[in-house]
Amino acid sequence: MKGSIKLGTVFGIPIKLHFTLIFIVILVAWSIGANVLLLADMLGIEDPGITTGLQSYTIGLVLAVGLFVSVLIHEMAHSIVSIKNGIKVNEISLWLFGGVSALEEIPRDPNLEIKVSAVGPLSSLGIALFCFIGGMLTTHGILTFMLLYTSFINFFLAGFNLIPAFPMDGGRILRALLAKKYPYIKATKAAADVGKAFAVLLGIIGLFFNIFLILIAFFIYIAASQESQSVLFKEVLSRINVRNIMSEDVKTVSPDITIEEFIKIVIKLHHTGFPVVSSGKVVGIVTMSDSKKVPDDMIYTTKVGQVMEENIICVSPDDNVGDIWETMMKEQFGRFPVMDGDELVGIITRSDILHSFNVLSEVEKVREEEF
Ligand SMILES: [Zn+2]
Repeated sequence: MKGSIKLGTVFGIPIKLHFTLIFIVILVAWSIGANVLLLADMLGIEDPGITTGLQSYTIGLVLAVGLFVSVLIHEMAHSIVSIKNGIKVNEISLWLFGGVSALEEIPRDPNLEIKVSAVGPLSSLGIALFCFIGGMLTTHGILTFMLLYTSFINFFLAGFNLIPAFPMDGGRILRALLAKKYPYIKATKAAADVGKAFAVLLGIIGLFFNIFLILIAFFIYIAASQESQSVLFKEVLSRINVRNIMSEDVKTVSPDITIEEFIKIVIKLHHTGFPVVSSGKVVGIVTMSDSKKVPDDMIYTTKVGQVMEENIICVSPDDNVGDIWETMMKEQFGRFPVMDGDELVGIITRSDILHSFNVLSEVEKVREEEF
């Protein structure tokens, strides 16, 4: 996530804080500090012995930080179970809406997805019980208040995350349960639909009660759509290889031609990017946007070799398109040269992949209607 700072590394996983977290910690600290006596009353503590003012705001700050430690433990639980089951965890980031564990891949085995997803809410429940018992045992008013408050927050975290909507854990558990019976795409779509319906409902409730809920509803709706779209994408694309959709008739350019000559080629051939080949070897890729960086009066003297992207990723005709798409998104490349050994045999572009996806999913729809 952009705008994050790295806090440290736990179990080999980088922990990152997003700047939006600062606002939420301040907001939570302030709202606890300002309502400390009311909150204590709600938790059934008659006289917590807290003075309003600096002391109550200090308690608010400690509890706000405690809230994010709770979220961090929740995320750590997801991550540790993932790592134990052979799934790499890239990072844990904490931000406005809580925490996100960035798993390298989402487990396809329903039982494993249930395990990885359920352990988060379970750990929140564990903290909640632990703090609840602690709060019951202590007689110190302030400590009782802090423990019971943290307990309440963790009960809430467990409950909120069990809501059956993506990206909440409950959404993943629902998908995994459905995936035991139905194909993965169908299960994801159904779980995403439940999530969207929930988001709409939450948005309507928010309209009447709390604006913040609308924001969360919006976030859930987008996440649900993205999840089902990306699963559909990956699933459909993983059925084909690069060979099936690459353009074999590759036009290449030499690094020694000028930008002016390159622009003429672009206009004539209607392609916006070309592999650059020098003495039979692919040395880079040059695109329209590379040429745009050259000032108008320099296009007669600047060579393609000076502006091309030399850092390129080549793929093999037998590579899976689903994997290629992921790399393309991650590295922000629009096209890959396809190499069979040392020989350039084709090119595959983002629009080739999008086009294939559209065609394949149309075919899928027609087939579904027939059966
Ligand atoms: Zn979770």
